[in-house]
Amino acid sequence: MAYVDEVLEQVKAKNPDQPEFIQAVTEVLNSLRPVVEANEEKYRKLAILERITEPDRQIMFRVPWVDDKGQVQVNRGYRVQFNNSIGPYKGGIRLHPSVNLSIIKFLGFEQVFKNSLTTLPIGGGKGGSDFDPKGKSDNEIMHFCQSFMTELSKYIGADTDVPAGDIGTGAREIGFMFGQYKRIRDLYEGVLTGKGLTYGGSLARTEATGYGLLYLTEELMKCHGESMEGKTVAISGSGNVATYAAQKAQQMGAKVVTLSDSTGWIYDPEGIDIDLLKEVKEVKRARLSEYAAARKSAEYHDKKDANDHGVWNIKVDIALPCATQNELNLDDAKALVANGVKAVCEGANMPTTIEATEYLQANGVWFVGGKAANAGGVATSALEMSQNSERLSWSFEEVDSKLKGIMVGIYHAIDDAAKKYGMEGNYVAGANIAGFEKVVTAMIAQGVC
Ligand code: NDP
Repeated sequence: MAYVDEVLEQVKAKNPDQPEFIQAVTEVLNSLRPVVEANEEKYRKLAILERITEPDRQIMFRVPWVDDKGQVQVNRGYRVQFNNSIGPYKGGIRLHPSVNLSIIKFLGFEQVFKNSLTTLPIGGGKGGSDFDPKGKSDNEIMHFCQSFMTELSKYIGADTDVPAGDIGTGAREIGFMFGQYKRIRDLYEGVLTGKGLTYGGSLARTEATGYGLLYLTEELMKCHGESMEGKTVAISGSGNVATYAAQKAQQMGAKVVTLSDSTGWIYDPEGIDIDLLKEVKEVKRARLSEYAAARKSAEYHDKKDANDHGVWNIKVDIALPCATQNELNLDDAKALVANGVKAVCEGANMPTTIEATEYLQANGVWFVGGKAANAGGVATSALEMSQNSERLSWSFEEVDSKLKGIMVGIYHAIDDAAKKYGMEGNYVAGANIAGFEKVVTAMIAQGVC
């Protein structure tokens, strides 16, 4: 049996109740086949694939907190420190009721390769909780974040593991967590990224994932003789990544016509009004239906069921899934192809199912997975770490131009890696190979550990 298949079998047998983790490992290992086959004897002897698919450690803990009625609530907290071969663990904290060990492990595993692609010295990890921030008061959010950090603080540090935001964790939550860390550890250090600008945050971090997605998409289009100017774009989600992706796409001359949240989606053929979007989502923290209520050109559609991803049925040139995992399935991919989509670039982590990815690739769509396309967020987090280490802050322009350089560099790195192994245009394989090669070189150099 091929080494990749053997390890895939082992991963499935060891983690039978972790479908998202198995999905991520299957996608990565399958695309690494040419590299693994070229080095099979060496990798087998050193158990490279067994080691790279097993986290360094997985921490699970109780998070008790008191709600506004005086009732004690209990959530479960997670931190998976996956691989620190090229730098301290780095990856966000997800607060969402769907969070479980499988989801945190899949995200931590993907993060290893993504962080490697940024060319910056950061390893991979991820954390979170099944806590649902929706409908909670600021006071409840603070109590939760303080309790979460009370336990997490034992395992993280500026040179050990540096968490950041993710779904449900924005500037407010990072602020509460940073305050608690500082109090417990008595250390003012860059232990979290995505911090507020008055206490060590980096300019352009808020915009980074969405902007970075567009810098990469623009380079992809350019290398195929196209530009962003005049293109129509479908975006899903309406959180941090979606908002700044929409803003940058429109600055580049494209028109963004859709957005979504977990209860519905909007179609705005005149192009999203970014100021209104920010007012609804960032200031009022309201549902997208309020955007549609305030804008004549927009239609609001309730989500019929979990498989209703209406935004992918709209005819567009470019699709940017920016909400969550597995939100673009085979039917959605078929609808996009039938409508002539040219490019799909993932702002979210693993939003496209394996079948949908294969369908898009087989039908000539330029498809760039999240590991490469959304790496701008973590890259800018690493720039925040650099600024914290030197106790300086760089200007917005300086950070933004570094981000752009990194994203353009990532596009060419994944393009070159795919070509090197005879898979021209397969950017998924290119990203996995380019990310993997650097991590494996470091693992081998550091001995069996
Ligand atoms: P936010 O919490 O800011 O926004 C998430 C958006 O996705 C919201 O509109 C949310 O709708 C929607 N959403 C979340 N879960 C579901 C679901 N189960 N079904 C339908 N819609 C859902 O998160 P981010 O924008 O930060 O993150 C979005 C994606 O990008 C995630 O996959 C994240 O891992 C990834 N990412 C984020 C980075 C960052 O820097 N923030 C960096 C790299 C990747 P609702 O409000 O209704 O829940």
